[in-house]
Amino acid sequence: MNELSKINTLKGIGDKTSSLFLKVGVTTIGDLLDYYPRTYDVYEDSILISEIEEGKVATVTGAIFGRIQVGGNKNMQITSLLLKDISGTLKVVWYRMPFLRTTLSKGGLLTLRGKVTRKKAGLIMEHPEIFYPSQTYVEKRGTLQPVYPLTTGLTNNLVKKVMSQAIEFIDPKKDFLPEDFLGKYNLEQYADSRRNIHFPENKECFVQARHRLVFEEFLTFILSLRMQKKREEKYKNNFTFQQQPLIEAFINKLPFELTCAQKKVWEEIKTDMSSPHMMSRLVQGDVGSGKTMVAFLAMLYASLNGYQSALMAPTEVLARQHFETITALLNEYQLPLKAQLLTGSMTAKEKKESYCNIQSGKVDLVIGTHALIQEKVLYKNLALVITDEQHRFGVKQREQLAGKGSMPHILVMSATPIPRTLGIILYGDLDISIIDELPKNRLPIKNCVVDTGYRNTAYKFMEGQIKQGRQCYVICPMVEESEHLEVENVTDYTELLRDHFPPTIKVACLHGKMKQAEKDELMEAFGKNEIQILVSTTVIEVGIDVPNATVMLIENAERFGLAQLHQLRGRVGRGKHQSYCIFMSAAKSKETKERLEILNKSNDGFFIAGEDLRLRGPGDLFGIRQSGLMNFKLGDVFQDAQILKEASNAADEILEEDGNLTSEKYIHLAEHLKTYMAGYLIEKTL
Ligand code: ADP
Ligand code: MG
Repeated sequence: MNELSKINTLKGIGDKTSSLFLKVGVTTIGDLLDYYPRTYDVYEDSILISEIEEGKVATVTGAIFGRIQVGGNKNMQITSLLLKDISGTLKVVWYRMPFLRTTLSKGGLLTLRGKVTRKKAGLIMEHPEIFYPSQTYVEKRGTLQPVYPLTTGLTNNLVKKVMSQAIEFIDPKKDFLPEDFLGKYNLEQYADSRRNIHFPENKECFVQARHRLVFEEFLTFILSLRMQKKREEKYKNNFTFQQQPLIEAFINKLPFELTCAQKKVWEEIKTDMSSPHMMSRLVQGDVGSGKTMVAFLAMLYASLNGYQSALMAPTEVLARQHFETITALLNEYQLPLKAQLLTGSMTAKEKKESYCNIQSGKVDLVIGTHALIQEKVLYKNLALVITDEQHRFGVKQREQLAGKGSMPHILVMSATPIPRTLGIILYGDLDISIIDELPKNRLPIKNCVVDTGYRNTAYKFMEGQIKQGRQCYVICPMVEESEHLEVENVTDYTELLRDHFPPTIKVACLHGKMKQAEKDELMEAFGKNEIQILVSTTVIEVGIDVPNATVMLIENAERFGLAQLHQLRGRVGRGKHQSYCIFMSAAKSKETKERLEILNKSNDGFFIAGEDLRLRGPGDLFGIRQSGLMNFKLGDVFQDAQILKEASNAADEILEEDGNLTSEKYIHLAEHLKTYMAGYLIEKTL
């Protein structure tokens, strides 16, 4: 057996368990080893009662204050007590454990570890693990237990059990990184890193394992980018482009003037598209900087020259919105071109019609989701593909499209403000344009960072805005598909708001698990102000444009990365009305406050990203991930910036030594890269 063996060759895994693992994408032992813990249960040092943060697991040590009470009813007896330390007291309850009254009443110090939540009467620790006497905690202190992402039927214990078998099958001699690299970049061996990411003996082991895995993840990515770039430099531009006076006329008729930055980027795109080589360009610009307009100009340029162009959005909602904006522009300015929508959720009949229109050349601008590049779609003469918020439009997709005609020009639009030094590494295969200027006359968003005590005031404020005809977003953290639901559930929250606000205010809820048709319907209703408050997970984050929405309330803001919060905030401040963003945080720590205050001080995405980077140290172990930016499995572009730079240096070194990775030394690395690039499909990144 080896890493390519199916997991059902492991002991105790039958069809049922196999199918559970299949649901989370695990079929082989190798897949299983790549199924990293979502987080770890860390048995931390005790903290003071006054330092407890709502919603988090805490360990506290103290003495019992007053009497131990047993209440509730026969079916559910509730044991409660007050724990006291030098900083304060905390209410603690256990369910169905009435005997605790006797066992705990001997006096002396007690250590408790459990989740603390806010109830009507204040903070309360529910059903904690007990260490009594308190010294018994010493053994557990500092250990880490893996917590895996789960699905119904798949328990954490099951994954742990299977994983501990799987790591026995790793070949201890296996490694695709050459030995001298391990020493030079202080990396653990292949087998050790796999073992330690799943079962770290302590934090130090975890850090070492993670370091190696993040390094190899970045290195693989960077190497494939650079090799891809080398291949692409060969692609000749077979299209002919001529100046199109209609475009200049269109620009002159717009109710606003393009910003200097927009003009500059537009020139760069025009030059690229008529140069001897194919364009591969990234346009980076903050939310609201007017990227869509630039994308539209590029599409016009292609289509007025007689070619088709395609715009690919990451979600159906966004695709539909782009389609509507573009259709409206074509009509309003009487441009002699036709747009076509193509998304995965369209009916078979609609799709078929769409394919026909695309193949026959009846339509010029095609807008959609990744359905745009699937096999069934044949373009008549596609010359330009634009992706919105998708950074990994790889060589595969290009070739896929090229198989259907000529290689198209590629334009990638991104609102993710990545500091320049990192951008050069991460977008190594692209030329970069930056729109570093917002349209004039934009009212800057007013921000505030508040704690949960301010919630009712925030609701009042929202109500006031709604009375003036405006609309609001409320963002809750993601609903995780796991038994450990740590986050406020969006649907519950929606109910709560419905109760709170008068019935004239319509509250609706949007989340990733909803059917596409429902989402579309909802967004349309919100766009028409038939819904006043939209409660959502971060699915709202990319690109939605409802200028009448002026308030965004973000719950648990402390759980998001700053760059992500900034993107979320970009959903408001898009119209002529003053907009507001309320960051609500349940965390009391000074660091959290300081971090969130940055958003308060600045509306500049690049500045914010830079500050975020500065504030995160390597000590920030389980730091917030920036919404899986670039879709790395473990690595976080911000948090692991240092490793990213090291991996970039390593890649330079490797390619200098052996540009095609054909030598004996790099044979395993080349193999690894091949597998990686084969999996480098856009489907994977969605
Ligand atoms: P982005 O995609 O960069 O977040 P959009 O392209 O959606 O931003 O633009 C946001 C809004 O600003 C749109 O309503 C667009 O019509 C408008 N807009 C674009 N360029 C300008 C400009 N130069 N001046 C004023 N408004 C603009
Ligand atoms: Mg956009």
